[in-house]
Amino acid sequence: MLTTEVENFPGFQDPILGPDLIERMRKQAEHFGAEFVQDDTTEVDFRTRPLKVKTNNATHESNAVIIAAGASAKWLGLESETRLRGKGVSSCATCDGFFFRGKETVTVGGGDVALEDTIFLTRFVNHATVIHRRNQLRASKILQERAFKNSKISFLWDSVVEEILGQQKVDGIRIKNVKTGKQDVVKCDGVFVAIGHQPNTAMFQGQIELDQKGYVVTRNGTATNVEGVFAAGDVRDFHYRQAVTAAGDGCRAAMDAEDYLEEKGLRVH
Ligand code: NAP
Repeated sequence: MLTTEVENFPGFQDPILGPDLIERMRKQAEHFGAEFVQDDTTEVDFRTRPLKVKTNNATHESNAVIIAAGASAKWLGLESETRLRGKGVSSCATCDGFFFRGKETVTVGGGDVALEDTIFLTRFVNHATVIHRRNQLRASKILQERAFKNSKISFLWDSVVEEILGQQKVDGIRIKNVKTGKQDVVKCDGVFVAIGHQPNTAMFQGQIELDQKGYVVTRNGTATNVEGVFAAGDVRDFHYRQAVTAAGDGCRAAMDAEDYLEEKGLRVH
């Protein structure tokens, strides 16, 4: 929903904008009879039958539910970060890395994603700097070794981003060393924030099994621990997180839900 050009969705020879891709998917589903309700889910009740999903304006009842609420990137929470999002600030190197060919980028974070993203960025950029708030990375050893060996990558330790600089587009960041308090400006064209993702599962707490980080736990394909409730996409997957893998997962969940309804002799509505 937030990405610009998608270049790795099968069937599209030319890049397609994220919102345009979604619009096409929506039309395709409508063509086969899907009805869309544009509303926010506030609460669910999976303890009674039929299952209930409450939105701002109505309560929907169903014999099967597929949760595909996705995950949201965590952001630093800076005003300048919000203002420059899409203008050099991104949370998705696979989506936006291409736009930084020959440029300088910084990645914020010290986990697997920060390093994987930065290594990916070196296909395009002149130089990439990883900024981490401690002096030890959280990422796996193998990724650390790969990043340390890459001559296009350098590290700034014990540092936090205080402001992203630039009016119409990013032209640098102001950082602070958390040990010395010293401030510095780092020139760059892009800022990739890779400090983790948050699954959008607040409304399911106490209703279905979630793991420690809040992702929906699934078994036997896309089934959750509640009969008739299935989950697909980033809401249950923190590893692949691609449009194509989520779409494939959606297909699996739809087939699992259909099998379930048939097995129980239930109808969709
Ligand atoms: P993560 O492992 O939680 O790492 C988040 C990183 O961001 C940490 O280094 C953390 O610093 C830093 N951070 C968090 N909040 C911050 C803030 N407000 N300001 C500055 N820095 C902040 O998240 P992830 O890298 O997205 O990975 C998510 C999961 O996917 C992990 O379990 C990871 O192992 C897995 N994964 C695995 C692979 C792989 O195996 N190839 C690839 C991708 C992801 P601290 O270290 O100081 O906490």
